[in-house]
Amino acid sequence: MSSKVFAIDMRTSVKEGMLQKLGRLIDALDLGQGIRSRDLVAIKLHFGERGNTAYIRPVYLRQVVDKVKALKAHPFLTDANTLYVGTRGNSVSHLRTAIENGFDFAVVGAPLTIADGLKGGASTPVPIDMEYIKTAHIGSDLVDADVLISVAHFKLHELSGFGGAIKNVGMGGASRRGKMDQHSGISPKVKNKACIGCGDCVDHCAQSAITLIEVEDKQKAYIDPEKCIGCAECILVCRQSAINPQYQADVPVFMKKMVEYTAAALKNKQGKAFFINFLTQISPACDCYGHSDAPLVRDIGILASTDPVAIDQASADLINKESALPGTCLQTCTGPGEDKIKGVYNYIDWTIQLDYGQQIGLGSRAYDLEWLENK
Ligand code: SF4
Ligand code: SF4
Repeated sequence: MSSKVFAIDMRTSVKEGMLQKLGRLIDALDLGQGIRSRDLVAIKLHFGERGNTAYIRPVYLRQVVDKVKALKAHPFLTDANTLYVGTRGNSVSHLRTAIENGFDFAVVGAPLTIADGLKGGASTPVPIDMEYIKTAHIGSDLVDADVLISVAHFKLHELSGFGGAIKNVGMGGASRRGKMDQHSGISPKVKNKACIGCGDCVDHCAQSAITLIEVEDKQKAYIDPEKCIGCAECILVCRQSAINPQYQADVPVFMKKMVEYTAAALKNKQGKAFFINFLTQISPACDCYGHSDAPLVRDIGILASTDPVAIDQASADLINKESALPGTCLQTCTGPGEDKIKGVYNYIDWTIQLDYGQQIGLGSRAYDLEWLENK
């Protein structure tokens, strides 16, 4: 069965600006079917790494917030901490980055929370017993929220091909331990060249999984994979950036784990989850980078659905229908109908996340796309 996906393009007129048009798109989604008065409504988004410029403009979030408030519910904007060391690896720097990027109460009209707490420890185990993930570790604020609205910037991604609704919820909503689970499955690795043997990570590891060993007459950290639980705390602790997740994990398995995590984050949100994808500033890489390369195709519009698989499928299809803009990193697959995602990441089969999402009952790859008329 196909799922409904509503869409607006980027045209505006004196009769209706983009903010009002977004309001109409949200109305089409009928938030009232899932939100009751006094519900705590998590609006899950990516605040953008410091220096990134492609993330969703904060004024758009204000529209979502206002629609939730109109239902007498309590919205808050949230994201979970990152796995890597950057400007969003703990709540303090994450919130500072978010506010510096414009997500201030004065602009968005709602408070911000970091879903997995100060250092990623506010993580709720969600048993799902799926093929790869038996228990997922989700940012507690997302589990505790009554309703989830995913507001995702749809762009390309070097591991999943693209990042849309599924990635925003499954990877973005996971606590640091959950992200680690998806990225490597086991434990991070020490880069011997970068390690200076300071021992900070040894003191911080609650599992006593790290010891200093002698490598070519120098002290280097060593992580015992038998003792490590993959909490990823040490990645944050190391000032030399010498500890990293094992990104070489099998990419198809990575995508399937991410999809299972999405199912976990939505487990207690049946009929209470909504998805909005912004097909704007469609950059070749994630907003986790401190820069944004030139958009690959024109700004297409904004989509909305209650089905995370259908909205991501529709988003990918719309991008691939476009001609590439001149002056981007895309060297092949530039014509209309050609696969722009493969053009950038030829080693990734991005359909896996959609296929697997459909297989586990997260949603449908078949969709019925309805463009709202312009005023
Ligand atoms: S904190 Fe970093 S530099 Fe220090 S011992 Fe651990 S891995 Fe090496
Ligand atoms: S991931 Fe956690 S358990 Fe594993 S070595 Fe690092 S701090 Fe210790």
